Formats: sequence, C-alpha cells, structure tokens
Amino acid sequence: MVHILLHFIVPALFSFIFYRHMAIKAWLIMMATMIVDLDHLLATSIYYPNRCSIGFHPLHSYIAIIIYFILLSFPKARIVAIGLIIHIILDFIDCYAK
Ligand SMILES: [Zn+2]
Repeated sequence: MVHILLHFIVPALFSFIFYRHMAIKAWLIMMATMIVDLDHLLATSIYYPNRCSIGFHPLHSYIAIIIYFILLSFPKARIVAIGLIIHIILDFIDCYAK
C-alpha cells in the first residue's frame, strides 16, 4: 500500500521542487506515465505481490529503462522520462525492500 502511495507522492514532490511554475501539469504528466503498468496485464498472473516487475514486464525491462534514460535528453519528453524513471526506481526499491 505504501508503495502505491509513493507512486503519487514522489512525482508530486519532484514536480513542486523542479517544476514549480507548472507543478500540477508536471505531476499530471508523471501520473500518466503510470500507464506503463499496463504491461502487467500481459503477464499470466496480473498481480503477484512478491514478483519483481523490473526485468519481468516488457515496459519494465532493462531495454525499456535505457530508452527512458535516453528520453531524458529530449526537453519535450523530459517530464515523461522523469515520471517513468521515478516509477522504475520505486518498483525497484519495492523488489528489495521486503
Ligand atoms: Zn510498475
């Protein structure tokens, strides 16, 4: 449960610190990146509490993560990329913080 809350709180903090002039908009864009969790629907068992998403689901694969970092270098895609990377980091922490 804490994990899901962090998916809302961390991007919000990030938006207010780094995108103060457009915090709400930045936060909403980052929230939209949660769509990457749709790849869980492709898995045979949609939700598995102890399964690590990283490296398992297509949009949480290492190749996808590399693409998210490449996106950081494009100003127009930067907020999306930050949202995706925050998401991956949180999922990653969730894998090892049990
Ligand atoms: Zn995820």
